[in-house]
Amino acid sequence: MIDEINAILPQTQCRQCGFPGCRPYAEAISSGAADINQCPPGGDEGIIELARLLGVDPKPLNPQFGLHKPKSVAFIIEQDCIGCVKCIMACPVDAILGAAKFMHTVIIPECTGCELCIAPCPVDCIVMKPVPTPLDKEQPFTRNQKKAQAQLAKRRFDARCLRKEKEIMEKAERAKQKRAQLVKIKSENTLQE
Ligand code: SF4
Ligand code: SF4
Ligand code: SF4
Repeated sequence: MIDEINAILPQTQCRQCGFPGCRPYAEAISSGAADINQCPPGGDEGIIELARLLGVDPKPLNPQFGLHKPKSVAFIIEQDCIGCVKCIMACPVDAILGAAKFMHTVIIPECTGCELCIAPCPVDCIVMKPVPTPLDKEQPFTRNQKKAQAQLAKRRFDARCLRKEKEIMEKAERAKQKRAQLVKIKSENTLQE
């Protein structure tokens, strides 16, 4: 059930629902800890799909969690960027390219529009811009196009989570080895005394 709920969510990974990503929100819906109307990017369309899956009545989006907006993506005003890498650290889907002290740029097709990179930028050089749809500026994205975008975002988010977990484990292992080395040095010193 969690996977089925997660497959409906738009995978923007914006945390507006009050959970640290789409899957934790799916888990909360499944356990009854959250309602179906807390995802602004999914909007009414997402709520109707969730209601159908769960066999409950749809309800309007709860504005306490934000408003549904047309899809937008982040742009970096490159001449103002100071290369602090804070946006890279904040991006849940690795959609920003750059290195310390160098100009950064957003990989537009991979940006979910979550806006999580905006607040950390110390020089306010990230702006959101609406995305022209592939069909026509007046036409909304089709359901299949939205699903494909969500699947790409999910793959990138999952890959990032795995990488972060690996980094944490490697850091813990290095700290463990360092502690063992210190204990060894200390006991050798004690023996010499
Ligand atoms: S898109 Fe944002 S608000 Fe919707 S479920 Fe995912 S993290 Fe929550
Ligand atoms: S570039 Fe910014 S808006 Fe786009 S996905 Fe990354 S953090 Fe979100
Ligand atoms: S947070 Fe802003 S200044 Fe820092 S690297 Fe990103 S875009 Fe550049």
